[in-house]
Amino acid sequence: MTMQPNSQEARDVAYQLHAYTNARSHQQAGPLVIERGEGPYVFDAAGKRYLEAMAGLWSVGLGFSEKRLVDAAHRQMQALPFYHTFASRSHGPSIDLAEKLVKMAPVPMSKVFFTNSGSEANDTVLKLIAYRSNALGQPQRKKVISRLRGYHGVTIASASLTGLPNNHRSFDLPLPNILHTGSPHHYKDAAAGESEEAFATRRAEELDALIQKEGPDTIAAFFGEPVMGAGGVIVPPATYWEKIQAVLNKYDILLVADEVICGFGRTGKMFGCETFNIRPDVLVVSKQITSSYFPFSAIIMNDRMFEPIADESNKIGVLGHGFTAGGHPVGSAVALENLRIIEERNLVAHAAEIGAYMQDRLRTLADHPLVGEVRGIGLIAAVELVLDKTRKVAAGTPGALGGVASRLLLERGIISRNMLDALAICPPLIVTKVQIDELVDGLAGMLEDLK
Ligand code: PLP
Repeated sequence: MTMQPNSQEARDVAYQLHAYTNARSHQQAGPLVIERGEGPYVFDAAGKRYLEAMAGLWSVGLGFSEKRLVDAAHRQMQALPFYHTFASRSHGPSIDLAEKLVKMAPVPMSKVFFTNSGSEANDTVLKLIAYRSNALGQPQRKKVISRLRGYHGVTIASASLTGLPNNHRSFDLPLPNILHTGSPHHYKDAAAGESEEAFATRRAEELDALIQKEGPDTIAAFFGEPVMGAGGVIVPPATYWEKIQAVLNKYDILLVADEVICGFGRTGKMFGCETFNIRPDVLVVSKQITSSYFPFSAIIMNDRMFEPIADESNKIGVLGHGFTAGGHPVGSAVALENLRIIEERNLVAHAAEIGAYMQDRLRTLADHPLVGEVRGIGLIAAVELVLDKTRKVAAGTPGALGGVASRLLLERGIISRNMLDALAICPPLIVTKVQIDELVDGLAGMLEDLK
């Protein structure tokens, strides 16, 4: 890319270190600078329009121009731009939102703790789990199990939960108390001829064996996304969650559902837990709760979690944890308005209907010689690219094919995300059939370019 001196691109390269970017090649390639948004579209500085088929970072449910969210933020800024929830202080928006989240949770829940990002929320859950084990007089019960290819964030503890090599390599992670069990990806990980049910049974047996090996009374919790997102959009195989849940129940291990991507309609139900009949003790939500117009996250917990924590804080005198901006009044007001809009416009039912249409249309690409698997549910999907269909592999360098494919799509005005050689698709919930057609036609055209 040729960058004009003092242009936005040149100043970006001069001054910013970017997340999830090769910091060296970025110096040559430069950034894509986005200037404004409209519905599911964003526009760059030259006015080129892109269909944001990733909803930003799996997160802008209501699209990029929802004025009611802006107005809600503005009203709250004028009324009370900041207050906190430390030391028994509170404010209306956080109270209303906590009540709303407890009442809308898919299983009986009792309390909400507010944080600012998915990572911070998961990090907090890990701390609360240790606190709880100490409260219960089980100080040895501190190990936590998550899954290879799971994504739970990037703080020291949440990156340890994440099961992806790039989040561990050279960061000296994972932390020792965090263990990983196998991913639920049938296409990649099942043995030849192994059915979805048999594969799910195997994964549950492996989990059971890991718990036995470590000692059941040392395992505090299991973390999982109902559908894995950043690990490649992995939809669990039939019977997987009920079998995992049964193992956890057998050993009295807490289940934490990371709904940071799945929550608020993404899988065609309000929560991913409803889609897969998961009964968690803790729900972690973020991203789509404010359509990412404001950084926000929340931990929704049941009494099994809350009661021992309350006892321990009583013993010590205080729960020594909290973030300055946790439950921020502006974020809470935006979240409440966002949830109101999702309900008023029946966007969960819309996601189920348009999602089914998107899944059908995407599966028309499955026979293409470069497509190994099309997978997904509701309004989240991935197209796995391969050069050799029978060996299920792409190019020599993992991610090279996916990288080219997402660049070609970008040229066609579609923003996707390549996770190695899988292209992730996760459009705003407000997407229409016409826009899904635009997306799938773009993908089909890109696959022809790639041949
Ligand atoms: N959990 C899941 C399932 C996520 O997808 C993400 C982010 O993509 C996170 C946690 C971390 O959230 P954040 O980037 O807000 O820290």
